[in-house]
Formats: sequence, structure tokens, C-alpha cells
Amino acid sequence: MRRPLVAGNWKMNGSLESIKSLLDGVKAGMSDVKQAEVAVCAPAIYLPAVQQQLQGSDIAWGGQDVSAEASGAYTGEISTSMLKEFGCKYAIVGHSERRAYHAESDDTVARKYAAARAAGLIPILCVGETLEEREKGITESVVARQMDALINLEGVAALADGVIAYEPVWAIGTGMTASPEQAQEVHAFIRGRVAALDAGVAEGLRILYGGSMKPGNAQELIAKPDIDGGLIGGAALDAGDFLGICTAAN
Ligand code: PEP
Repeated sequence: MRRPLVAGNWKMNGSLESIKSLLDGVKAGMSDVKQAEVAVCAPAIYLPAVQQQLQGSDIAWGGQDVSAEASGAYTGEISTSMLKEFGCKYAIVGHSERRAYHAESDDTVARKYAAARAAGLIPILCVGETLEEREKGITESVVARQMDALINLEGVAALADGVIAYEPVWAIGTGMTASPEQAQEVHAFIRGRVAALDAGVAEGLRILYGGSMKPGNAQELIAKPDIDGGLIGGAALDAGDFLGICTAAN
């Protein structure tokens, strides 16, 4: 039985003041969350404040990206040990915005995943196709290529310690959600690809859906057999909406 995970990705949003009231709101509603594990991925500079507010709560936190390098001359980067030092449990790697705006390749993302895993963080590997790729009918080969970069580098066992988030790029921040059937189809493909290599790893692997998930569509999505929660952008910035998604997994 896989425990659902609902992880917020705040992206480059918030202020000390707004995250305080957001987290106060989420904490206040956590008694209604019966099933899901809840996490928030904050801008790195706010992680100390998030740690202070969430320490001792049922909410985990994480980074939105992490360097594949341990330390050194990598201006602007954040290392795995830095995330660990501020209590992070999770690190998102390969978000489509990192791939698109920072030219992160599948290999770079795989190296980030490996570094996060080696440091004892739980990496959340984002995969997903653009609208053009979906229209060309190559969704599965794109997702396979993104997964295989990791599997070729680290072996399928690497997925025993991580999470995959299927995020169709055309659904992120656009209000266009994949239908539960469309999402389930790709989630089943992902799990099947892992199962072909290791059935046990596939069975335990949490595969989140991301892309305009809201309280109004979360329940239908999470009810699908291969959808184990969500990676939430916009709706994670509002405590009521975020909790509405967290309780949809009850
Ligand atoms: C995301 O950024 O991972 C995401 C899914 O965003 P949104 O929920 O806003 O589509």
C-alpha cells in the first residue's frame, strides 16, 4: 500500500510574511488530513524559516532543486548537504521550468537525483512531455527517455528511494489539467517500465501527478490506481486550496 504524497512547489513566490501565514493555515488544517503525507518545497532562502515553523509538525519540507556537485565553485547553487542542514526531506529535480529555462539535460537531472539520494534526501524526479510532443504522439518515448537517464546511471534500485512526478508541461500553470484517464495512462506506463526491471520497486514507487491540480479535480485524479498524490504549484500558495488537495486523498 503506497501512502499518498501531496507536495507543494511554491516556485519563486512568497515572502517571510506570506509563508508564515500560509504555513499557519496549513498547520491549522492538518487534523483533517487522514491519509496523505504532506510536504512543501520552498525557495531555498526561506528554508530556515520553513524549518523553524514546521519542526515538530506533520509537514515535511524540501528544496525545489539541488546541485549534483558536493561543493566548490558553483556560484548560486545549493548543495545536498545544505538542504540536509536545514532539515529537508525532499528535493525536486528536473522540474520542467529548470529543464526549459536552465537548459537542464536528462543527464544533469539524473546526476542531481543521484546526489540527492546519496545524501539521504528523497528526490522527486519530474518527467513529462510538452504539448508539441503530446500532439506528435511521443509522450511515452519522452517520459521513457527522461526515466532511462536515471536508470542507466544508477540502476532501477535508485527508484526505491525516490518519487516520480508526472507533469505534462502543457498542464503546468495553465489551468489545463490532464484528464484522470490521460494521467493514469502515463502513470501506468511509468510503473510498467519500472516493473519490467523490478516488480518490487515498481509496486512501492510513488508516482505523483502535477499540472493544475486543484481541490475540484484532485479526488478524481488520486483515485486512479497509479496516481499516488500530487505535486502542486499554484494551488499550494493558498492554505485552503492546498488542504483541499491533501484531504482529497483521505
Ligand atoms: C508545478 O509547478 O509543479 C505545478 C504542477 O504547477 P501548477 O500546479 O501550478 O500547474
